[in-house]
Amino acid sequence: VEARKFFVGGNWKCNGSVSQVNDLVSMLNQSTLTTDTEVVVCPSQVYVQGVKEKLRGDVSVGSQDVWTKGNGAFTGETSADMLKDMGVEWAVVGHSERRGKGEADAEVAAKAKYALDKGLKVIACCGEPLEAREAGTTNDFVFPQIKAYADVFSKEDWDNVVIAYEPIWAIGTGLTATPEQAQDTHADLRKYLGEIAGADVAENTRILYGGSATGATAGGLSAKPDIDGFLVGGASLKPEFADIVNCNG
Ligand code: PEP
Repeated sequence: VEARKFFVGGNWKCNGSVSQVNDLVSMLNQSTLTTDTEVVVCPSQVYVQGVKEKLRGDVSVGSQDVWTKGNGAFTGETSADMLKDMGVEWAVVGHSERRGKGEADAEVAAKAKYALDKGLKVIACCGEPLEAREAGTTNDFVFPQIKAYADVFSKEDWDNVVIAYEPIWAIGTGLTATPEQAQDTHADLRKYLGEIAGADVAENTRILYGGSATGATAGGLSAKPDIDGFLVGGASLKPEFADIVNCNG
């Protein structure tokens, strides 16, 4: 396995229409995307199948969330079994926009574990609110989120996991973390991962930054040693997504 290949995920969130999604897929299909970056896009569940059918093969499709269990009487949920059946390769878990609706660390970790057991790869999110950043307690907030994942992942599971560090104050606000702020937290997270999951897991696990990343800010962030890519919201709907994918050259 290539060590920490640069990774860029696009989280389309609850956006799009059939025609807008088709336009986005066409844009991606026509973009020059470096093969040095692993690229994943995460459409709304209703568009996953259409995107999967039309999107170029070197860009993977992910789900923005996944259920904790398999198929059954769980109205409104989407199982990892279904996603796998659809050819989806990745699932995001623990996005702050879902945690904000009441998903606790243990439920998020259970979603990740079930998805991994079914053969999906996982983008495991974490991130602190503004109050924690201002109080200097970012690590106290984020470490338990990471610990919850580590408590249920096996050593082998980590091969199929990327962490997305997404400070909540930076998501959708235009307030991108500075490269120094992001690097500091990424380095702390990697050190902590070493303590709870082992040195090899810490060394090999990609830690993405998420929070108002743009074509203009990606280069400075990606130059930092512990920033291994991005999870991108708003800018993933725009042509500059390709600039973020290509920013690490
Ligand atoms: C996200 O939702 O994961 C995200 C990083 O959003 P944005 O880039 O819009 O801040």
